[in-house]
Amino acid sequence: MQAFLARFSHFFKKAPLLKEQLPCSDFFKEETRRKKAKYGKVEVLDQGGFFTMENCIFCKINNREIPSYKVYEDEQVYAFLDISQVTPGHTLVIPKTHVTDIFEYDETLAAAVFARIPKIARAIEKAFPEIEGLNIINNNKELAYQSVFHSHVHLIPRYSKDDDFKIHFGNHADNYTGKN
Ligand code: 5GP
Ligand code: ZN
Repeated sequence: MQAFLARFSHFFKKAPLLKEQLPCSDFFKEETRRKKAKYGKVEVLDQGGFFTMENCIFCKINNREIPSYKVYEDEQVYAFLDISQVTPGHTLVIPKTHVTDIFEYDETLAAAVFARIPKIARAIEKAFPEIEGLNIINNNKELAYQSVFHSHVHLIPRYSKDDDFKIHFGNHADNYTGKN
């Protein structure tokens, strides 16, 4: 792990330092109000903010309450290695502002997050020159395989057909009429 993290070091140096911020406090206040109404119970932490029962693991990572391996950071986004490492260099890019999924982005936040993806992809490619491809995946809601409800984009480097990553696109062309 350490060996390939070292490959990112050239990139870390370029990333601006984290500004002190707690970007999620307003979100959590509103979430707490909503969850209280729905479930009648919330967990309160001693951070000057209220957190819901469903404490956000990625906010904690962004706030350095949980450790992570940083790949890139600036004022708007934090990118870090996915703990599962589906393939070596598998990275998650999160907005520092808590949004649950793509449906909660406004245009400004979307522009900020998605504009940074190519730069982070190039950093991963530079760190892992043996990469043969890259899948970019953004799961939204449980049915679509979202398991952490702070929006994130997966960057999954591809090394070979046998690198243990698959996507299945069913072919239902027979159902396609070409008409509106
Ligand atoms: P999702 O299924 O929501 O699209 O992806 C969530 C991802 O978050 C998973 O790939 C999972 O491995 C990753 N993940 C969950 N908890 C942690 C954690 O504590 N640290 C890191 N680095 N990744 C995590
Ligand atoms: Zn969050």
